[in-house]
Amino acid sequence: MTQVIRTVAELRPLVRGWRAAGEIVGVVPTMGALHDGHLSLARRGKVECHRVITTIFVNPKQFTNPEDLKKYPRTEEADVALLNSVGVDAVFIPSPEEVYPDGYMTTVSVGGVSEPLEGRMRPGHFDGVATVVTKLFGMTEAHRGFFGQKDWQQLQVVLRLVRDLNLPVTVVGCETIREPDGLAMSSRNVRLTDQGRAVAHVLYTAITAAADDIRAGQSDRMAIREAAEKVRAAGFERVEYIELRDAETLMPSNDVRRPRRMLAAAWLDGVRLIDNIPV
Ligand code: AMP
Repeated sequence: MTQVIRTVAELRPLVRGWRAAGEIVGVVPTMGALHDGHLSLARRGKVECHRVITTIFVNPKQFTNPEDLKKYPRTEEADVALLNSVGVDAVFIPSPEEVYPDGYMTTVSVGGVSEPLEGRMRPGHFDGVATVVTKLFGMTEAHRGFFGQKDWQQLQVVLRLVRDLNLPVTVVGCETIREPDGLAMSSRNVRLTDQGRAVAHVLYTAITAAADDIRAGQSDRMAIREAAEKVRAAGFERVEYIELRDAETLMPSNDVRRPRRMLAAAWLDGVRLIDNIPV
């Protein structure tokens, strides 16, 4: 059975016991409303570690829009049942006060890779992410942390953070899990209308076609413009960005010898969807 743990005081002795027995501990940080994307991280954790902890914490510090925080889906009971079904050892569900007690004063801020794209559209978002991830690593004392490529920029921020602060954690980036039509799974997808859900996959299919065109020799700018037009024509209210970037630094790149990534953010039904693919 997955143990439900709400305080660091309960978590510490559990993890210390595992570690003392020579077991490798993995952590999968999430904000809950779990779907197959999250579960794929937990399953990967089970393959690579003796013990897996999933954390569920809707981190107020990483929300730049109070409405989004309020509307964020919360499905704790179903989440615990799903984690149990994949054999997760413990789920850590701290309260906001457990994570940020009175007098809390520290922010972790990663330069460079945090600044463009999501960092520009959501100022302060990655400070919130870097702070909570650092805390979750400290709280869980995990050897390995599992993160989705779905949030590609976040994954690069966490990799940078771990290197820069010498944190004793190995970060594992896991493939994006998609619906059969290509839509990246996301806890926010449940907020789409039926009509929106029917066209939401166009964000993925449009950037996939653009990446194919670029590999076939079309100009980056032309391919991206066509992708943005397809997304708008499908009924998205707004395309925030579709950009081709260096996969690691997230800076603009036309160096085809380095891995590049196409990243996109767009609004549909008042829901902000993001996606990314290798180019
Ligand atoms: P979230 O609950 O949205 O903060 O996501 C928690 C973790 O699950 C992050 O590392 C995400 O990148 C990852 N994740 C979310 N959706 C997917 C997906 N469709 N495929 C793979 N990983 C995902």
